[in-house]
Amino acid sequence: MREYYLLYPTTMNPCTLERRFYEEARKAWLCPGCGSPRCHIQGLEVLIQEDKPDNAALNGITGTSLGLAKKNCITRFGDKILSKYFELGKVYGPNGVMLEEWVVFVGKHQVIVRGTEHVKLRQCPACGRNIYFGVGQRYLYPAPPQDVLVMDGSNGLLVVADELLPPLELCTWPKVKCVKLPVLDVPLDGLVDLKSVY
Ligand SMILES: [Zn+2]
Repeated sequence: MREYYLLYPTTMNPCTLERRFYEEARKAWLCPGCGSPRCHIQGLEVLIQEDKPDNAALNGITGTSLGLAKKNCITRFGDKILSKYFELGKVYGPNGVMLEEWVVFVGKHQVIVRGTEHVKLRQCPACGRNIYFGVGQRYLYPAPPQDVLVMDGSNGLLVVADELLPPLELCTWPKVKCVKLPVLDVPLDGLVDLKSVY
């Protein structure tokens, strides 16, 4: 039976899109309701306000579901996994200078990491996506499709199958924690099967 792990940033300093870029992006490719990419993105790239993002291997971009990653960490997945599971793009700082150490990412498979406390679920009025918030014990429900090894949990969170972990050398990823995510038969948040969002 496959096991899954949650990789999540511990930084309290997410990045922020440059204001005008954010407004344009919401008209073009980010949902104006929830900030998730509307569709497959050709030529993903972002302009952020920070010229030095927090030194966390994974991070989120405020007001969007986009993730930011340190290039020398996320590339440990290897080219095959990266191209199969991620859309990766360039990151530019406030003065338009490319931040070479960073990439923006969107997972090709999305997942909701479920919780037990302060659980809230609503549907985005613009795109209909399930927007979930929950803390406490984290778990997956239902089991992800067996052929999917990497999922995007939004805002820099990744859910990774156990067999991919060793080459990642997570001990070298700054400000990232890794916890096992059980797959439960019955969700603990009283909600239904949300698998339509995968
Ligand atoms: Zn939306």
